[in-house]
Amino acid sequence: MAYTVPKLTDYSAAALEKAAGECVRACGEEAAAVRSEAELKAFRDRWLARKSGILTLINDLWLKGAPKEAKREAGIQVNALKARVTELVEAAHVGGGAASFAAESVDITLPGARRPMGAEHPVIKTRNEIVAVFQKLGYSVAEGPVVETDYYNFEALNFPPNHPARDTQDTLFIAGQQAKPQRERLLLRTHTSPVQIRTMEKLRPPIRIVIPGVVHRNDPPDASHSPMFNQIEGLAVDTNITFGDLKGTLDFAMKALFGSSVKTHFRPSFFPFTEPSAELYVTCFICGGSGKRGSDPCRPCKQTGWIEVLGCGMVDPNVFEFVKDNGYDPKRVSGFAFGMGTDRLALLKYGVDDLQLFFQGDVRFLEMFG
Ligand SMILES: [Zn+2]
Repeated sequence: MAYTVPKLTDYSAAALEKAAGECVRACGEEAAAVRSEAELKAFRDRWLARKSGILTLINDLWLKGAPKEAKREAGIQVNALKARVTELVEAAHVGGGAASFAAESVDITLPGARRPMGAEHPVIKTRNEIVAVFQKLGYSVAEGPVVETDYYNFEALNFPPNHPARDTQDTLFIAGQQAKPQRERLLLRTHTSPVQIRTMEKLRPPIRIVIPGVVHRNDPPDASHSPMFNQIEGLAVDTNITFGDLKGTLDFAMKALFGSSVKTHFRPSFFPFTEPSAELYVTCFICGGSGKRGSDPCRPCKQTGWIEVLGCGMVDPNVFEFVKDNGYDPKRVSGFAFGMGTDRLALLKYGVDDLQLFFQGDVRFLEMFG
């Protein structure tokens, strides 16, 4: 039934409020029922027309008709009502002022929408912990592009064209690059090391940086491999940096990461961009170096009591030759570099046995780290 303006006999505040409430409600319902332009126009005229619109009627009946002592209260109520009705009418559109009507009937006693807090991803958490250790030592964070040129990913890191070490990288190349000279061809970086060169091109020595980032290799996914994974590497260059500085820095960092009781151990290795190179082992932080967990063999360290954590070495003078013009004369400066797999350390740290779990985005898995 269409709304008609009632005559008031009771001008108390409560009665005025009730009448105003019914009026707003009726207006909202009519706004929601508008289905065409013609209906919209009729609706607007019905409520707002100066001559005989509902608001004009209300003005006449409720305000002018009010006894003297009630005029003030009636004025306040009628003004508020006019503002509300005008708002509803103006917001109305074909297909319904349903939104404004719905807004009118919000149940404020309903509980609010709770959003789950989420948790830091274990790989991000591990990365942040490692970065924080080196930041305390005065290192700053450097980053670089994931799509790199052959020059930064290989050549400037002492992998000349046809160097056998390039084969072991299983690089993912960007298609359609054959027309370019080899050093300009694009690829997905296979390590974070290109950022070492990019940073040395920009900043003169001394520098101390850590480089966290995503890298890609053409590895099919399995429990310990992924075509996408995370690395963190570090670089320190200054005058008189020795292998002793490298050992001291990494020994401190490993104790900060895995506890003060771990021991470190360096074994000779080979990387094209460092000379000499080493692999760093720490005593197994799962079995404490015994190789056993109770009566069972310790799997993560393959019962050796040692876990390989990273590769490192003194920066090869050939690498400095590429940035010599920016103050990196290999006769004057020396430095060390190291790199580790963030995901692998997270696997070890949290006792997870399948790398894929980190990247599948299953909330049930991730919730365990919340
Ligand atoms: Zn162990």
